[in-house]
Amino acid sequence: MRTAAWAAMARTYAVIGDPVGHSLSPAIHGAAFRELGMDCAYVAYRVGRDELEAGIAALEGIGAAGFNVTIPHKVAIMGHLDSADEACSAIGAANTVRAGGGRLAGHNTDMEGFLDPLRRRGFGLAGARVLLLGAGGAARAVVAALAREGAARVDVANRTAGRAAALCGFASGLGLEARAAGPPGEAGGHDVIVNATPAGTGGGPGPLPASAIPEGSLVYDIVYSPARTDLIRKARERGAAVVYGYEMLLGQACRSFEIWHGRKAPYDAMRRAVLGGP
Ligand code: NAP
Repeated sequence: MRTAAWAAMARTYAVIGDPVGHSLSPAIHGAAFRELGMDCAYVAYRVGRDELEAGIAALEGIGAAGFNVTIPHKVAIMGHLDSADEACSAIGAANTVRAGGGRLAGHNTDMEGFLDPLRRRGFGLAGARVLLLGAGGAARAVVAALAREGAARVDVANRTAGRAAALCGFASGLGLEARAAGPPGEAGGHDVIVNATPAGTGGGPGPLPASAIPEGSLVYDIVYSPARTDLIRKARERGAAVVYGYEMLLGQACRSFEIWHGRKAPYDAMRRAVLGGP
């Protein structure tokens, strides 16, 4: 039984994970609170791999009304929830928790976050042939989104072949045709390429040579730091349309905001918090 402290103060939010020092979430949500004049705070709280139970208890102690969950707790948090939404159950992981009335309700906003920038562009995934790089937690959310939107097929290229095969099994279970692919060297008839590996983070080399990017394709790099990654740069050189990782970050943050506060998130203010500028 959780203490009444959960309900007493309903204005503090957090992101828990390890590491979280680099997280942009406090800046994004802080900007939203300022924009809307909300009396709320959002903090980054480092909770190590073996500290999840204690971390939840500490959040309970300060009366947190909700929190985001990042690596390494997205799967483990499922065992601490009183309820989980459909996206959580489909993906097997949660990234957003609403706390209240002594209960923890889990949500997964990664799928909606991934789709948000595509919707803003009016880009539909129905019938798309997709190359997906990576087979971790984010790739799983991407596959769930592709299945829901009616993509024609996904080819999964991953460093560890067994994880690519497992993700293909997950895709097939959702009715999405999938196959494990080798490391791409040349352009291979894909309409959409999604990078769901960390390759390119911190300005490092991206996951693909430019020659593997078909002209006229759409390249979606979910790496968000820096905004203009090696893959984004190569895609633009090839004349491909691009979606930036920070757009997914904003999409999922907006959805978290709406789950917690029951009102529309101020997208432009949150975007400025990520990109700077007026
Ligand atoms: P994860 O569960 O740890 O999975 C990482 C995946 O990337 C695995 O498939 C792994 O391959 C592969 N990988 C790791 N290092 C690699 C390297 N140096 N070269 C090639 N492949 C490599 O992580 P995740 O949660 O899926 O996150 C993946 C990336 O997406 C991270 O950079 C994260 O910051 C980003 N992300 C962005 C957003 C957003 O909103 N924009 C949301 C979620 C995640 P193996 O299977 O071989 O280990």
